[in-house]
Amino acid sequence: MQAQWKRRRRAAHVVGAPAGGRCPLCAGERLRTIDAVNPREGIVCIDCGSVPRQRALSATLAARGLAAGCVHESSPSLCTFVWLRQAARELVASYYWPDRRPGARVGAFRNVDLRTQPFGETRFDLVVTQDVLEHVPEPRAALREIHRTLRPGGAHVFTVPRSQHRDTVTRAELRDGRMHHHLPPEYHRDPVDRGGALVVTDWGRDLEAAVVATGAATCTAVGVQDPAIGVPRPVEVFVAVTPT
Ligand SMILES: [Zn+2]
Repeated sequence: MQAQWKRRRRAAHVVGAPAGGRCPLCAGERLRTIDAVNPREGIVCIDCGSVPRQRALSATLAARGLAAGCVHESSPSLCTFVWLRQAARELVASYYWPDRRPGARVGAFRNVDLRTQPFGETRFDLVVTQDVLEHVPEPRAALREIHRTLRPGGAHVFTVPRSQHRDTVTRAELRDGRMHHHLPPEYHRDPVDRGGALVVTDWGRDLEAAVVATGAATCTAVGVQDPAIGVPRPVEVFVAVTPT
């Protein structure tokens, strides 16, 4: 039964019903519905590969004029990397490879553990993380570092899956250098790790409070819903601003 569903889904991926709208990342108009039940991922841009949460985030940045300064994006996808490189005065893109030297340059990227970043204080106007915070061990340490590297009044704009119906749950915890699982391990697709990325945190309704507790002055969930950019159903984009 499950195999059949997978086959159907793969066929839908190839065909995909036209979804309407224009992609704000690449200006392409070939948006296709590949998963009608998933508002965050279900409509793909054939031209750049963007999904609704990425288009919602870029539209939020553009509407608030946030992308023009000095930007750090952690674990970018190609579509937002290309878009931000054009929009930003300077773009620092990073991934984390634990077995390489911290801060090392790896091609176009820096090797950055979000919990211990090699950047000076107030280095960036904007930090972007897209579906990263659910995978970071010790996410509060990562958030504190993100706020440290932002200038006063700088913004951390991010997406993350979260439930409005319960509080945040820690699925796994790093202790003595080892991952301890409180819940059965769950993995998301990862562009740099074929094994997938472990989900460490299931974020809940207390997310904004958790972000403010780590040093932001405010954290607001923006509900983006705009069929004109291929986001026909609400997708949350979070905007955290550091104190001025
Ligand atoms: Zn596109």
